[in-house]
Amino acid sequence: MLSSVWVLLWACALAWAADLYKVLDVHPSASERDIRYAYKKLSKKWHPDKNKQEGAEERFIEIAHAYEVLSDTEKRAIYDRHGEEGLKAHESGANQHNPFDMFSNFFGGGHPQQQQTRRGPSSITEFEVTLADMYTGNSIDFRVKKKILCDHCRGTGAASDRDIHKCDACGGGGVRIVKQQIFPGMFAQQQVTCDACGGRGHVVKRACPHCGGRKILDHTAHLTLDVEPGMREGHEVLFEGEADESPDYEAGDVILRVRSRKETGGWRRKEGSLYWREALGVDEALLGFERNLTHLDGHVVTLRREGVTQPGHVQTLKGEGMPLPGSHGSHWSPTDTHEDCHPSTHGDLYVEYAVVLPAVVEGGMRKKLEEAFDAPAAHDEL
Ligand SMILES: [Zn+2]
Ligand SMILES: [Zn+2]
Repeated sequence: MLSSVWVLLWACALAWAADLYKVLDVHPSASERDIRYAYKKLSKKWHPDKNKQEGAEERFIEIAHAYEVLSDTEKRAIYDRHGEEGLKAHESGANQHNPFDMFSNFFGGGHPQQQQTRRGPSSITEFEVTLADMYTGNSIDFRVKKKILCDHCRGTGAASDRDIHKCDACGGGGVRIVKQQIFPGMFAQQQVTCDACGGRGHVVKRACPHCGGRKILDHTAHLTLDVEPGMREGHEVLFEGEADESPDYEAGDVILRVRSRKETGGWRRKEGSLYWREALGVDEALLGFERNLTHLDGHVVTLRREGVTQPGHVQTLKGEGMPLPGSHGSHWSPTDTHEDCHPSTHGDLYVEYAVVLPAVVEGGMRKKLEEAFDAPAAHDEL
């Protein structure tokens, strides 16, 4: 009887234990380093300044709480044995940590003792999409070659945590004081970086078999660029922390500068305006015409004019230009009942007409034209 109660309590303790570990997505046997690493990844991912998903803030606070407990040896031990209830009893009266202060301290925000996190270089890449993608919006998958921390050693370069030893030469400080004789009997003290450990304060006795001690691996990341309808030419999209990883710094960002391709199938864009050149026959230019123009997303725009159209004439089609950024209204919104109900969601389309003359005018046609224009017959040949 007693033992079954004990088993039940033990099971409860394990259930509690699993929860905070689950929040950080680590195993209950995770090392301090693993927990730190998990917090670093997750807290950045869920920070409400960047993550606008619903519930991101709650998730961020949960993550901060899990890290606060699991990164503290004493609290972790209490939590493992007595769960959240045990912690509450332990912490009654103690200050509650602000999850946002903790975040900025972790990433070198304000705490003076905390070492500032160095950031690695960011990369800027010119990225071309079709003008149709810019018009309709699209999600474009792309790949980035980069260095990532070895997932076996988490960037230590050591086969296991037991293979990392404090550097004997500097006692773990990473620096050594050397005495230099400048005059007989007179010495100057100088602080130099420890050459035995390269200033790290520790040495690796057995290299990680996965990365061979290089600490990093080559990796191809799959990312998705979301092109917003009407995205500005040269707009920069940031992929935070997706540049090369390194044990020595926080990974920089991958930045894509998005432009539409030069070959746009005859379409030209200037900010919110679109330009199209349409070639008419002489008959159409003189007598009027109706033509269908297939737009970038496949919808058909009717070009219609009565009477004479001069070469170079520009016709303006309201609301048939690019979507204007920020107005995510669809072109064919079912709520639009009036023609003039959506002038602000799109720019205008300017169609310039060219007139193509026939290469030759054959005998019969020529005669008719001479009559029509009341023109004197010219000699074909000299
Ligand atoms: Zn050293
Ligand atoms: Zn490794």
